[in-house]
Amino acid sequence: MTPEDFESWSRRAAEWGARYRAGLRDKPVRAQTRPGEIYQAVPPMPPMEGEALERIFEDFERIIAPGMTHWQHPRFFAYFPANAAPVSVLAEYLVTAMAAQCMLWQTSPAATELETRMMEWLRDAIGLPEVFKGVIQDSASSATLAATLVMRERALGWQGNTRGLCAHPQLRVYCSAEVHTSVDRALWVSGIGTDNLVRIPTMGPRHGIDPQALEAAITADRAAGHLPAGLIACTGGTSIGACDDLGAVIAVAQSHGLYTHVDAAWAGAAMICPEFRELWGGVEAADSVVFNPHKWLGASFDCSAHLVRDPEALVRTLAIQPEFLKTQGHDGIVNYSEWSIPLGRRFRALKLWFLMRFHGLEGLRGMIRNHVRWAGDLCEKLRAVDGIEIVTEPVLSLFTFALQDEARTRALVQAINDDGRIYLTQTAVAGRFAIRFQAGSFEMEERDAEMAFDVITELAARV
Ligand code: PLP
Repeated sequence: MTPEDFESWSRRAAEWGARYRAGLRDKPVRAQTRPGEIYQAVPPMPPMEGEALERIFEDFERIIAPGMTHWQHPRFFAYFPANAAPVSVLAEYLVTAMAAQCMLWQTSPAATELETRMMEWLRDAIGLPEVFKGVIQDSASSATLAATLVMRERALGWQGNTRGLCAHPQLRVYCSAEVHTSVDRALWVSGIGTDNLVRIPTMGPRHGIDPQALEAAITADRAAGHLPAGLIACTGGTSIGACDDLGAVIAVAQSHGLYTHVDAAWAGAAMICPEFRELWGGVEAADSVVFNPHKWLGASFDCSAHLVRDPEALVRTLAIQPEFLKTQGHDGIVNYSEWSIPLGRRFRALKLWFLMRFHGLEGLRGMIRNHVRWAGDLCEKLRAVDGIEIVTEPVLSLFTFALQDEARTRALVQAINDDGRIYLTQTAVAGRFAIRFQAGSFEMEERDAEMAFDVITELAARV
């Protein structure tokens, strides 16, 4: 491709992106394609000779674009958001154009040093103390895995990586049933195994771990000859937004010498608003905290902020330094690949820099506060509708609701998503099927919450 073609096609891609974003409101949120349709439309073999980009672009518009679910749609109320504010997309264009592999300081000093600064900005923005140092991981799943590996190594005297797990008592990790399944996977991959993931009963309106039950479980495990290694707590669990009482459960865990990790993948973004910080009161005592700016905050996927009290423990667990990865002649530099599981790293900090500068913390706070308010208002309006029951109360901008019987609730979520004006997903609350609503789209306005009310009530009357 000539530089001139690269320029004109880049412009065309950018124009397409801007038009796409501007037209989202008029599209159904969830892709309306049938399984296999896209696969069949793509030939089984690659071409032998190169094709004209004009044709490739046409096929992109004809085959691919209609098969996308629109995560940036203002009425995307399913799962959690994966916001990509336009300004962070601009930064991603630049990062993609430079296409640096930022594994070491010397492979792109700007990427490393901006990452250090951005993690300080974020740490201060969410109110964590200065002792925390941060790294950008690709996902919260990776951060939780990294924290679980630290738990393992710490509990095994830093010998698990070399000697494996066989020579040791069974390690135990504690959490509630409200944590994300990335915790289960972390236990699989770390070799600890989910049989050693002890689910502590929850209590209270926030569905948090019962601290006394945690104390009893750790004590019983020690008596049984097991080796308690860590606690994984959550602020804003995926299903219903459960929040552990971090002050209480971290105190119990630390009195037994456990490493503590807090998964706030979604809710962490809201901690830029001081008034929501009571949801994770006590977090400052944690050893490790993860939250995803790629969810609610608006940094395009992927961008997961992993903040740790003692980076040395993470580096001791994950760093590996063959000669070809050593940095000559510079003492005291940070190589972030030693803080993560993959060696290769994208330049992720640039989109955070663009995002926070362009919107400012007050701009981002305003968005989050609006979402929380609009979700709360919608919840109250639905509560007043005959036949609709609020199953779990709002935590930030997430609540769940159901109709009186399960079959109709299932039919309702399906009817809503086939209709396409809004997109919702479901969960199970103590075995009961419920529909989740979360407000979080970067482009959402109050009228989108109003439309959600209209769609839900109109279709509930029909199912
Ligand atoms: N933790 C929580 C609470 C989540 O809700 C999610 C995903 O929604 C994850 C972890 C996993 O996040 P990631 O996709 O960044 O691994």
